[in-house]
Amino acid sequence: MDDATARRVLGIGSYATREQARAAYKRRAKMIHPDRHAHTSAAAQRDAERAMAELNEAWHALRESATRTRSTEDDIAVRRPRERGCEICGYRPAVWIDIRALTGLIIVHSSDRYAATLCKNCGTAIWRDVQARTLTLGWWGIPALFVNLAVLVNNRTYGAALRELAPPQARVGSSPAPMSEPMPLTKPVTVRVLPWVATVSVVLIIALLVVAAVRAQG
Ligand SMILES: [Zn+2]
Repeated sequence: MDDATARRVLGIGSYATREQARAAYKRRAKMIHPDRHAHTSAAAQRDAERAMAELNEAWHALRESATRTRSTEDDIAVRRPRERGCEICGYRPAVWIDIRALTGLIIVHSSDRYAATLCKNCGTAIWRDVQARTLTLGWWGIPALFVNLAVLVNNRTYGAALRELAPPQARVGSSPAPMSEPMPLTKPVTVRVLPWVATVSVVLIIALLVVAAVRAQG
């Protein structure tokens, strides 16, 4: 794969550094990884596998050349291809979302960010997975408990933007987006089991702690 094609696949400019190329690769890989499309049709899965292979090839091609051509010039950065439609499927209309999934680890927590311009279908599919994950894994720590509330509030803002967005209508002709069709809709968060189990457990634990604290006061 030549340099220009690799950069187009990764969605980066000619002066992007190796670090920026790596960041662009990881960002795309999270969204189009075949695991995310495991419950979709066979055709959509093949499309995701092809897109992932192309992305890997682009990163491997660029890993070498980006090191050689590292530039100190101002980077064109990862473009936000608003006018080019959804970053996953290339369909219009698309909206910018910036959401997180938190994982609480008792005293520390890690956060996984998804920031991209997406159509209603791709955006909602990713939003639901991210929201379900943070509702399941985000509560488990003392600072994490509070950070997760902020994460949920932030994610909801973008969830509302996705709800207001019109369904994908047409693919932008020149779009370099990796998939050929919008992602199929996945199960809503409210019908998934683990987010409920985790969230209800946390509420019960807090309630028990409060009762124990009140009793201890006599
Ligand atoms: Zn899309």
